[in-house]
Amino acid sequence: MGIHTAEAIVLRRYPFRETSVTLTCLTDQFGKLKGLVKGLRTQPNRYRSAMEPLTVNRIVFYDTRTSQLHLISQCDLVDPLEAIQRDLDVARLAALCVEVVDAVVPLDEPQPQIYQLLKHTLERLAVGAGPLDTVRIHFVMRLLKLAGFHPQLNECAICSTHVHAAGYWSAREGGLLCPNCLHQDPRAEAASSSTLETLAALSDSAQPLDLDPSALTVLRQRLDEFLRWRLDKPLKTLTT
Ligand SMILES: [Zn+2]
Repeated sequence: MGIHTAEAIVLRRYPFRETSVTLTCLTDQFGKLKGLVKGLRTQPNRYRSAMEPLTVNRIVFYDTRTSQLHLISQCDLVDPLEAIQRDLDVARLAALCVEVVDAVVPLDEPQPQIYQLLKHTLERLAVGAGPLDTVRIHFVMRLLKLAGFHPQLNECAICSTHVHAAGYWSAREGGLLCPNCLHQDPRAEAASSSTLETLAALSDSAQPLDLDPSALTVLRQRLDEFLRWRLDKPLKTLTT
């Protein structure tokens, strides 16, 4: 059993029994973990954070090894990011970000780059930096790349043939299709090379890119369809 300190962004929080809460959080060094905070609901003063979703905290936790539920013994609020809640569209996008992280990141595997991506994205949303779709498209594409869930952009998702010119986009099959595999998905649509290049550039960039506003709608649609088809569970925050 080890004791650790970490910075943690709360993804989800649930009441547990009469007095406690369990939560899922993403930490800077230990990846995504589940934690139990005893007595948080009845003795909130024992802790210096209420561990609300979308807040940044410093936690001390015991790694129990026998269970995936770690015991959190201390939590201090580092950044409440409260500005996110002042605008409904910003709050919705932030909720989408944490839901996608929860969906694609496995428990108890260090993911420092994903932690930094989520933290910087939430900070960007809190200060209102950049158009929301620009932040959204970058976050989703970069996260999918870092988590190993990214769409195929150079090779056919079915037969792995290198696709030289523009191919076809199939969210269902996992990205690009070559002409020979096009029949596998009747809903596949032609994908322009500029869309594919932009998606590739976004997946490699630590920050949002200045994108042509006319391209945003298509990029967002492609990524939203991809999330709809490729994740095991439908996202509650992905509205049509
Ligand atoms: Zn193919």
